[in-house]
Amino acid sequence: MRALVFHGPDDLRVEEAPDPVPAAGEVLLEIVATGICGSDLHGYTGENGRRHPGQIMGHETVGRIAALGEAVGEDLTVGAPATVNPVIGCGACPQCGAGSEQHCARRRVIGVDPALSSAFAEYMTVPARNVVPLPPEVPIEYGALVEPLAVGYHAAVRGRTAPEDRVLVVGGGPIGQACALAARRLGAARVAVSELSAGRRDLVTALGFAAVDPSRGDLAELVGEALGGPATVVIDAVGSSGSLAGAFAASERAARVVLVGMGAPDVSLSAYAISTDERSVIGSFCYPSEEFRRTAEWVATLPAGLEHLIDDRVAFDAGPKAFAELAAGGLDASKILVLTGR
Ligand SMILES: [Zn+2]
Ligand SMILES: [Zn+2]
Repeated sequence: MRALVFHGPDDLRVEEAPDPVPAAGEVLLEIVATGICGSDLHGYTGENGRRHPGQIMGHETVGRIAALGEAVGEDLTVGAPATVNPVIGCGACPQCGAGSEQHCARRRVIGVDPALSSAFAEYMTVPARNVVPLPPEVPIEYGALVEPLAVGYHAAVRGRTAPEDRVLVVGGGPIGQACALAARRLGAARVAVSELSAGRRDLVTALGFAAVDPSRGDLAELVGEALGGPATVVIDAVGSSGSLAGAFAASERAARVVLVGMGAPDVSLSAYAISTDERSVIGSFCYPSEEFRRTAEWVATLPAGLEHLIDDRVAFDAGPKAFAELAAGGLDASKILVLTGR
């Protein structure tokens, strides 16, 4: 099969790789489309050190079931479209038993762990329990959006987002877009997204959210105008000292501030914005498997706005060029899909 193989910073190549064979309990998926994630991009440039030379990346994916290994349940059938939950737990610990594989001490993530079959390839093998079938009437590309949308959904759930909340999302890239859509999915009608890029603000506006340009003035004032008061929930999809300072400034006392962006490994925070103002700072990573499944079901209802989330599609052979252009900042994109079909 063909695969996009990462060879080191700024070096991705289309190469022949051995066809994966499903073991017992595994499914062989013929990949249709895979999204380029910010984490893939930072791995590609070498910034985050979370990708390793020789590996195949890709964890936001959709395809069709091509073969079943032994001992795979009857809920999966050859030919069915399916997406993949890339978080693989050990399956034996209490966290996995509770469906919170993201808390499993031995969890591995497809597209991150070099030993795992991953999605920038024509085929991949996946544990059957991580395969989530999609109804055939759903445009198959939407399956590649389930993973980032589930990240946003978990962040909004972690913030206990409710209809009465005033929600600020910091950062309007794909994860910020997913967080805003998730806040709406949880009933919040007042949702604003702060974002520096004009192209992304246009997209956020097209999705029906208030877009705030933080370069225009005082963020707290701009957010107050957009939401009718300070935020009660902030979802920080950037994850830097600056974004958290903005989150605190634009939220009221006792607000919940969810940190889902991984912009910096270390941040400095205003202690008093947490202690005397009683804000909660809440971490969010991936999603429990049940939230991933529920997000796939939600995508299958074709909610308004999904059509805006795919910015561009590139052919498999053009994958390395798309990575290079994204890394150079040449594209003001939402989500770019690499299509695997010949
Ligand atoms: Zn991702
Ligand atoms: Zn486990």
